[in-house]
Amino acid sequence: MEQNLFPSNCTSCGFWSVFEADLVKGGLNMTCTNCNDSKFLQGTQKEMRDFISNSRKYVKVLALTNPEVLQLKNRGDHIDPPKAG
Ligand SMILES: [Zn+2]
Repeated sequence: MEQNLFPSNCTSCGFWSVFEADLVKGGLNMTCTNCNDSKFLQGTQKEMRDFISNSRKYVKVLALTNPEVLQLKNRGDHIDPPKAG
């Protein structure tokens, strides 16, 4: 099992927050480190690694217009949702 932290939007608490992604057998556990809401994504390890990679790429794109997302580094970090765009 390996752990990955990356920013994502949480539909439970409504913030952009640091998520912890645990690769597990049969998929990925995604836990919001702000509100501890977790969800399970089913898929192969490769699909889950691609998902993490794509999520990180998306954050880089988002940071071009909303640089505050780059502040999301540690467990519990969260910010108001960036403006859509
Ligand atoms: Zn949350």
